[in-house]
Amino acid sequence: MISLAIHGGAGTIPTAALDPAFADAHHAALRAALAAGWAVLSAGGAALDAVTAAVMSLEDEPLFNAARGAVFTSAGRLEMDAAIMDGATRAAGAVAGICGPRNPILAARAVMEHSGTVLLTGPGAEDFLRTQDIVFMPSEYFTTQRRLDALNLELARRAAGAPDTRSDADRHGTVGAVARDAAGHLAAGTSTGGMTAKLPGRVGDTPIFGAGTFADDAICAVSCTGTGEVFIRFTAAAEIAARLRHAGQGLVAAAGGVIAELGAVGGDGGLIAMGRDGPPALPFNSSGMYRGFVAANGVFHTAIHREPYRRGTLQAPV
Ligand code: ASP
Repeated sequence: MISLAIHGGAGTIPTAALDPAFADAHHAALRAALAAGWAVLSAGGAALDAVTAAVMSLEDEPLFNAARGAVFTSAGRLEMDAAIMDGATRAAGAVAGICGPRNPILAARAVMEHSGTVLLTGPGAEDFLRTQDIVFMPSEYFTTQRRLDALNLELARRAAGAPDTRSDADRHGTVGAVARDAAGHLAAGTSTGGMTAKLPGRVGDTPIFGAGTFADDAICAVSCTGTGEVFIRFTAAAEIAARLRHAGQGLVAAAGGVIAELGAVGGDGGLIAMGRDGPPALPFNSSGMYRGFVAANGVFHTAIHREPYRRGTLQAPV
């Protein structure tokens, strides 16, 4: 049975600071991304295309830290990472440290489909992508005042040697999607600007297969968000797959167990995971995770913190 889950990252605005209109905007953006992916799946389309459509929608939305609205490095530049994986074939493609493609997820897909390799970085990736059917945008397109403010605050804090009291929203964020199509194929996609004021050249878990992104029809599809270094060191997505495959665990236990263990070693964040059947799992150990899924009855569910899910369609609540 078709199924779809998305996330807009674990970098959520604290409940107290989130005014209702801003919360509504996040829910609407999540619903739009669910609608984009669900339209593909419900028309009999491939999980890979559903994931691509959902992630593109989230990338185009400046509320989230990916593509438009991405965070800045400590040098004030934009360096984006993205990855996509096809569970049917275990084909995979990723980009790291790029700025230019309007939709880094399409860049990752071009790497998967046309480069003959799996991961391209920086200027080499951008040169390759210019030979592909990829739309480029100037850096102003991706730039938002909110992310510039977050960078300047963090640089001032570092210069003053003050303790880090930033909210998750000022630190990081990511977008991602996992899907299962009518043929039972799974796919995962993830896209991020990374961590605010990250070291230039730093690459997070997003484009590392088995860490931030993974899909295999025989096991599961996973897209992660959070402190990428920990997700890489503990091979978060591969660990979930291993528990499903070798330890006989169910999706909720495997995904929730890994997120709880990462939290204990400083890995703040969450993930979305899709199994071969049944509903997705969306665990997180952070204060929140922008997230959504479509239930078997076609109703969209979206949430930010630990409140009950809002239920609705693209147009209206139900
Ligand atoms: N995982 C991302 C990274 O480390 C950031 C995030 O998801 O918040 O680049």
